[in-house]
Amino acid sequence: MVGEGTRAVGAGVPEGEAYAAPVPGPTFAAHFHLPGDPAVAPYAYGRQGNPTWTALEAAVAELEAPGEADAAAVVFPSGMAATTAVLFSLLRPGDVAVLPSDGYQLLPRARERLEGFGVVVRTAPTGADAQLAAIDEGVRLVWVETPSNPGLDVCDIRRLAEAAHARGALLVVDNTLATPLGQRPLALGADLSVASGTKALNGHGDVLLGYVAARDPALAAAVRAWRTETGAIIGPMEAWLAHRGIATLQLRVERQGATALAVARALRARPEVSGVRYPGLPEDPGHEVAARQMRHFGCVVSFTLPDRGYAERFLAALRLVSDATSFGGVRSTAERRARWGGDEVPEGFVRLSVGIEDAEDLVADLHAALDAAGDVSSGAARAT
Ligand SMILES: *Cc1c(COP(=O)(O)O)cnc(C)c1O
Repeated sequence: MVGEGTRAVGAGVPEGEAYAAPVPGPTFAAHFHLPGDPAVAPYAYGRQGNPTWTALEAAVAELEAPGEADAAAVVFPSGMAATTAVLFSLLRPGDVAVLPSDGYQLLPRARERLEGFGVVVRTAPTGADAQLAAIDEGVRLVWVETPSNPGLDVCDIRRLAEAAHARGALLVVDNTLATPLGQRPLALGADLSVASGTKALNGHGDVLLGYVAARDPALAAAVRAWRTETGAIIGPMEAWLAHRGIATLQLRVERQGATALAVARALRARPEVSGVRYPGLPEDPGHEVAARQMRHFGCVVSFTLPDRGYAERFLAALRLVSDATSFGGVRSTAERRARWGGDEVPEGFVRLSVGIEDAEDLVADLHAALDAAGDVSSGAARAT
């Protein structure tokens, strides 16, 4: 099997044909020429399928499950479209689902909607034995996020897959933070790997994207049918841009992971910074499990500053890191997460996404901004 850089650059790219573009451009079509029986047509109507999605889906399936011919991916216009496609196509009234209590901030909204349709939802924090304890005979679907956003807690995918399967439940992993190069949930036993490709997979901060990957063609078909029937489809331009971004995924995850580790170490050395989390740090509480199941530890570092004002002064004083949400892009971003109100985090909690800038420059910028944030009287922090 080829290395991951080779795989990323070739993923979903067709065999070269004389005088054809190396990667076909986006196909803009609401409908396709359709003689005869639609059941045998590869493309008929734009809500059902498009060659640009097919290429992107082949790329994602190749990354999530290399060399597995039966694996398939289904792309969506956002991570939440992919998430809700799984939850609402696979759960029925009366089913029991287990969701993380500390996962992506919109999961509680999805929970309310599921409960409105008669699904019973339990929650458990990431990585705790509570997650295993919540899986009993009645459970149909277990959803985990590892590492979790924004707390960066880690759970053992293989153990949870075994526990879920022993009780007839499906295990779904949100693989957004790790990317398929960082972690391959399907190989660890998960039934579905779901992600927001908006983040590191696309990596350029210019496209929203979601996907669901599965080894079992029946599961992929159920999710694809949901997409066709609800109409939650991605545009061909977005699909093509995302596919273009995947070519550099290996370069980006390697560089961003190495810089994130250097940044986490620098932050740990500062007295005003507490609770530094990065699964790649040997001292991190999640490191042991992360090291067993991840190849790259991602680009997100989280930490806590003394209070809200301190964090705001720090963010305002950064020169290379913009105050913005989302993560995984080539340009570094950071935000005070409590401003959204959805996560259970301290007021001074910062989620930092490390980009591809030079590590020394980023570390110097973080030090300077921390100095400025601590030095309230100088007024430096307001001089943005
Ligand atoms: C961003 C995110 C989502 C939602 O993805 P969108 O593309 O914003 O809809 C889901 N899960 C995790 C872990 C995320 O970070």
